[in-house]
Amino acid sequence: MKTSIATVCLSGTLEEKMQACAAAGFDGIEIFESDLVVSPSSPAEIRALADRLGLTLDLYQPFRDLEGVSDELFAKNLQRLEAKFQLMQELGMDLILVPSNAGTATVSDDTIIADQLRQAAQLAQRYDMRIAYEALAWGRYVNTYWHSWQLVQAADHPNLGVCLDSFHIFSRADDPSRIPEIPAEKIYFVQLADAQDLGMDLLPWSRHHRVFPGEGSFDMVEFMTYLTEAGYTGPLSLEIFNDVFRETDTNITAADGLRSLRWIQQGARGRITPDNPVREHLTAMPKIEPVEVIDHLEISTDSPDECGALLGALGFKFIGQHRRKSVQLFVAGGVKVVLSPNVRGGTYISSVALQVTDSNDALARARALGAPVVSRPVTADEVRLPGVYGPGGMQLFFVDATSAGWPIEFGADLDQLAASTNTIRLDHLNVPEARDHFGASVLFTLATLRLTALEGQDVASPRGLVHSQVLESPEGGIRWIFNQVPRIYTNRSGEPVRYPGHIALAVSDLEQRAATAIDAGLAVLPIPTNYYVDLQARFGLDDETVERWQSLGILYDRNADGEFLHLYSETIGGLFIELVQRVGSYRDYGPGNAAVRLAAQEQHEQQDRVFSR
Ligand code: MG
Ligand code: MG
Repeated sequence: MKTSIATVCLSGTLEEKMQACAAAGFDGIEIFESDLVVSPSSPAEIRALADRLGLTLDLYQPFRDLEGVSDELFAKNLQRLEAKFQLMQELGMDLILVPSNAGTATVSDDTIIADQLRQAAQLAQRYDMRIAYEALAWGRYVNTYWHSWQLVQAADHPNLGVCLDSFHIFSRADDPSRIPEIPAEKIYFVQLADAQDLGMDLLPWSRHHRVFPGEGSFDMVEFMTYLTEAGYTGPLSLEIFNDVFRETDTNITAADGLRSLRWIQQGARGRITPDNPVREHLTAMPKIEPVEVIDHLEISTDSPDECGALLGALGFKFIGQHRRKSVQLFVAGGVKVVLSPNVRGGTYISSVALQVTDSNDALARARALGAPVVSRPVTADEVRLPGVYGPGGMQLFFVDATSAGWPIEFGADLDQLAASTNTIRLDHLNVPEARDHFGASVLFTLATLRLTALEGQDVASPRGLVHSQVLESPEGGIRWIFNQVPRIYTNRSGEPVRYPGHIALAVSDLEQRAATAIDAGLAVLPIPTNYYVDLQARFGLDDETVERWQSLGILYDRNADGEFLHLYSETIGGLFIELVQRVGSYRDYGPGNAAVRLAAQEQHEQQDRVFSR
């Protein structure tokens, strides 16, 4: 379907916004009045710029507080509306958004409101304009889409239709299932916005916390499915008021927005039976099976010796150095880690390689979601792993049967690797992402790999709340957590440092593993006594167990599904390793323990620095 975006979604001037929308690949835009008012360009110049950029000007908005008013006020409103039609003529536009009256309405009579809408539509007709009437969730008398449709029906004018905005429907927990009852030709426009459930008032929620489809908790795919079933064929427009977007690089936000429109259309295709002809209106993405296995991880580090020692203490085997590059392969059980040295860049997960059926299909899907391709030249006898950059800069690589032999380049014996008796496996990844890339990274990763987002959570750290988002594959093979962190994170001395991410490895014998690893040189993050006192009180544990766990730095949780034991290594640069043991069918991550860990890391870092002076 044709794609569009309201200029209010983006930072920058109107002209910069238009450039970014065109560069991202949008077909058109909604002109937000306040963007035009502050622009030095004349309407004719904006129109010419849109032409040059190949953008259509789809909707002029908003025209507030038109209907449900006294005759006297309505006459003034019509004059105001006529002035906008004249402006729109200069812009070469023909569709204006009229949200339901939330400010000046005094008349709740549907007959009068419909009559005023009809008069407005008659005026529009004289200018060859059309009016899209939208029910604001906080409209005084009209606040449901169904009511707006009843009024449009009653007004019965060819230049009047409805605008459906997902935020106004879902934020009131309204039922979108009657959308297919509205004739497609009367749905003049559609605005898509998602949001997290923040339990706040509608107006501030809408004005500050809308996010792109897929980045919140509304069932946007359901909404898109109903629209398609109604026969609506576009445009699909994004109308996102978001404080972060207003300060984020325009191009990042525009690319993220277009990605969300690709994702939502693909999602709706999945819900509509293939024999239904309306399905063809939804733009398809290259399809892949959901990804369930991480093939290997690459750690970029300026401390390769420390990293190698940490992996060694945890039972990883050093397999060898790449025959051409100075990167090293470590393997333990089903976990393969490539260490790649950098110069003073810290330590972090630089790439994640995923097992897929066909790496070219996966690459095509990632590219359709706007990801740039990684260029990694290889020699003729080397395996090429296709890869892309995620929005935050992390690389994703795709491994299929044709490239699964890549460890040979490190001197690995594949049979020997397969015969390993070590039962260690990857439990989850935790990746820090700056605030301005967070939503984009979450959406990109879940859309590319077909993961599902669980409910977002906030974790208290000594220096602010960390918002975290868990993504999981359908079979639970991949658990990937993004943490939203400040763009510039500093230690207590004000020096910029990498906010730590981590790799969590699952074992079946945590206490024994921990003891062995500590003997082999593992430095465990010490956990304060207060934690263990609380733990004992909460779970009624015996003294001996608690003392043993404290000596090993083990944290604990228990719920109806089972038990969870875990520990953290010291942080190297911007990365640490977590060891976890899940007992029974425990699926969580030890709620509350991350806050203990963050405080312990902060404390530990302090002591470390004092000590190293
Ligand atoms: Mg709207
Ligand atoms: Mg963890």
